[in-house]
Amino acid sequence: MTYPVVSVVIPVYNEEEGLAALFARLYPALDALGTPYEVIFVNDGSRDRSPQILADQFHARPDVTRVVLFDGNFGQHRAIMAGFEHARGQRIITLDADLQNPPEDIKVLLDKMDEGYDYVGSIRRQRNDSLWRHVASRMMNNLRERITRIKMTDQGCMFRAYSRRIIDTINQCQEMHTFIPALAYQFAQNPTEVVVGHEERFAGESKYSLYSLIRLNFDLMTGFSIVPLQFFSMLGMAISLLSGILVIYLAARRLIIGPEEGGLFTLFGIAFFLIGIALFGIGMLGEYTGRIYQEVRRRPRYMIAAVLEERDET
Ligand code: UDP
Ligand code: MG
Repeated sequence: MTYPVVSVVIPVYNEEEGLAALFARLYPALDALGTPYEVIFVNDGSRDRSPQILADQFHARPDVTRVVLFDGNFGQHRAIMAGFEHARGQRIITLDADLQNPPEDIKVLLDKMDEGYDYVGSIRRQRNDSLWRHVASRMMNNLRERITRIKMTDQGCMFRAYSRRIIDTINQCQEMHTFIPALAYQFAQNPTEVVVGHEERFAGESKYSLYSLIRLNFDLMTGFSIVPLQFFSMLGMAISLLSGILVIYLAARRLIIGPEEGGLFTLFGIAFFLIGIALFGIGMLGEYTGRIYQEVRRRPRYMIAAVLEERDET
């Protein structure tokens, strides 16, 4: 059997309505490339008919299709990670199952890689998302770029291409909560971005609520930087410094002018001083806990029920 040059990794979660349309466009687009390829679907514990549809597709195109079936819903990024562990190609593409990115544009990403880039990100041509999502993602982008120093014009777009070297490095990472494009960016030597098409979701609905968008951005910032923790201890330090000055000032007044009506404020001053120190202490603890936390996450990230693939004859 020929080894694939291109691996396409697609996480699938409750996408039964859209899968047929995806197959109908994805396979012809990949056949047209003229390079050996494989498609790796990772079913992230769908509760609809997606697993059966994927199994049927495996039986229809077993030479180029592999299906990893999870034992539960572990999230899009862990599904992609599992796909990476099974990918054998020299170039790995991640693509959503919902046809929001045209599979025909895989060629655009690969052509860019031919120019010598090892990471090709994507920017959606015109965003068909709602206005609030547009504004929210703009703001999050700015904040994230400042905190993590990861440059990504369009963080919401998972349609990207990575070199084998980057994927091998990602496969060595044991992080529980991560964001693949950001993780890959850190390992890339020569990253770039291209503009790709973007369409309305073909079928089904977005799996991401406002809450999980916020969660994702938290993971991004705490997973790729300890700046938030450091900011917290700086805040505590500033408060203790300011209230320390206040305490000295009030003590001086007490000694020079004598007891005043505002004795209550002396108490406030001292209380604020102590609160400032307490905040600082919590921040310090947080810094250490954060570091330890980064080290000890060693739980299995997902459970695989089955893998549908053709046996290697070798
Ligand atoms: N997905 C997944 N597990 C989840 C949520 C989503 O594997 O828990 C998959 C989903 O099937 C799709 C991709 O991740 O292929 C992106 O999901 P979605 O289109 O809902 O996200 P959006 O495009 O709105 O960011
Ligand atoms: Mg989508």
